[in-house]
Amino acid sequence: MEMLNIHNTVEDLVFAEVEEIFNSIEESGNPDQICTCQQCRIDTACFVLNRTKPRYIISNRGVARTETQPFEQQQKEADIITLVHEGIRQVNHNQRPFFSHKDSSENAVSFEKPVFNIPTIIGRLFNGLNFAPMADITIELRHEGKLVEMKDQNWQNPYHLVSNIEGTYTFWSSPIPAEAAGIYRIFEFAIQIEAPDFERVHHVFNIPVLSELKAVGSFSLGRTFKLPDLFMFPPGGEGEDNLAG
Ligand SMILES: [Zn+2]
Repeated sequence: MEMLNIHNTVEDLVFAEVEEIFNSIEESGNPDQICTCQQCRIDTACFVLNRTKPRYIISNRGVARTETQPFEQQQKEADIITLVHEGIRQVNHNQRPFFSHKDSSENAVSFEKPVFNIPTIIGRLFNGLNFAPMADITIELRHEGKLVEMKDQNWQNPYHLVSNIEGTYTFWSSPIPAEAAGIYRIFEFAIQIEAPDFERVHHVFNIPVLSELKAVGSFSLGRTFKLPDLFMFPPGGEGEDNLAG
């Protein structure tokens, strides 16, 4: 069976640049005392992604094809780096509440046994009527009907969306024990959102994961799973599919 994947190459570029710039800030001794925690990295990546045009390719059996010219590519990278620096300023200025901004490796549950490391899940939620980012709403991540346990207390589930983060929500699941390393399994998750003036959202998605020898201690933007944007509608519409068109 042939597997076709639609992939946004700009996402890879953004995640790589964000990671590199944050790491170089840490290596330089962080003179401006910028928070370099996982959540602030994700928020910065989302800030940049929301301001760049996606570039989709179809990858076939892992072989990605793109027709981007080298010059165009360099220009795009320069633009992205500029946006990353702007994002770092904005995010640092506007740190999200309900979050301790601590390095999660200090208080993470450690697993010495093989596990499935579930990637960090990132998504955005909009009002389908005016495309405004949703705020003051609670989002649940569920697996087999139950709320998914988060990796440590820095991460919340249910997740409470506040107004200054432009509808972006994130989850980092606790690793799931595996019998051995190298086992391929598909995990089914659901995003569930209920709000008084909107139709319930129940978005089911799968994440394929290869088990590893131990839990991933530190966060990496390379280990992220980006959900499609979700839209909420008042009751009575054709609210069957909450995905973007
Ligand atoms: Zn932070």
